[in-house]
Amino acid sequence: MKMVFLGPPGAGKGTLAAMASEHLSIPHISTGDLFRAAIKNETELGKKVKEILAEGRLVPDDLTIALVRERLAQPDVKNGWILDGFPRTIPQAEALQQISPVEKVVNFDVEDSVILFRLTGRRVCKSCGKIYHIVTMPPKNEGICDACGGALYIRSDDQESAIKTRLEAYRSLTAPLIQWYGERSLLVTIDGAGKPDDVFQIFVKAIKG
Ligand code: ADP
Ligand code: ZN
Repeated sequence: MKMVFLGPPGAGKGTLAAMASEHLSIPHISTGDLFRAAIKNETELGKKVKEILAEGRLVPDDLTIALVRERLAQPDVKNGWILDGFPRTIPQAEALQQISPVEKVVNFDVEDSVILFRLTGRRVCKSCGKIYHIVTMPPKNEGICDACGGALYIRSDDQESAIKTRLEAYRSLTAPLIQWYGERSLLVTIDGAGKPDDVFQIFVKAIKG
């Protein structure tokens, strides 16, 4: 199955994609994670996008499409994939149709107040990328990853000003994809407001139908 997870920042796409990837035995490809890895490794791409991510703006389409094209040429994607955070613009969606057409688009519907609560409380493991929330999914020991013992950090784009920029980018550039995929009969919308386990159950039912 080739799947796209669509939704505003903080919709829970990354958390759900990790669960779904295990359930379906297909790789979870997060463009945000790929960009953060490039920044951490100080690659050419990383140098180009570091400031853009910190401010919460979108990376230009050409760079993003090239990154996804390269990733979808790897051998591990032959049985399908979950794209999390791509496409985020209509030109990206058009490019994906050329590279490898998506079969199902899962749109996570979550209201703004929930988004803000989630993003401001989010903590991420520096070593393994596992996602926590200081209120709803705290680690056993403050600031330390349960899974690997790594240090938890606050993403630079989870600061309030960057959150505002990301939501604006979502509304103007990404939300039109809901209609775009709807017109192509690829879209299923699910309520993303609940706890990860509950949203996961809704997700499993939705992709069977
Ligand atoms: P979130 O969904 O919580 O905003 P992501 O980890 O998906 O976070 O993305 C983080 C940042 O990476 C985005 O704010 C943007 O700068 C960049 N990015 C990720 N995916 C894309 C994309 N498809 N197009 C442009 N920029 C992207
Ligand atoms: Zn960890």
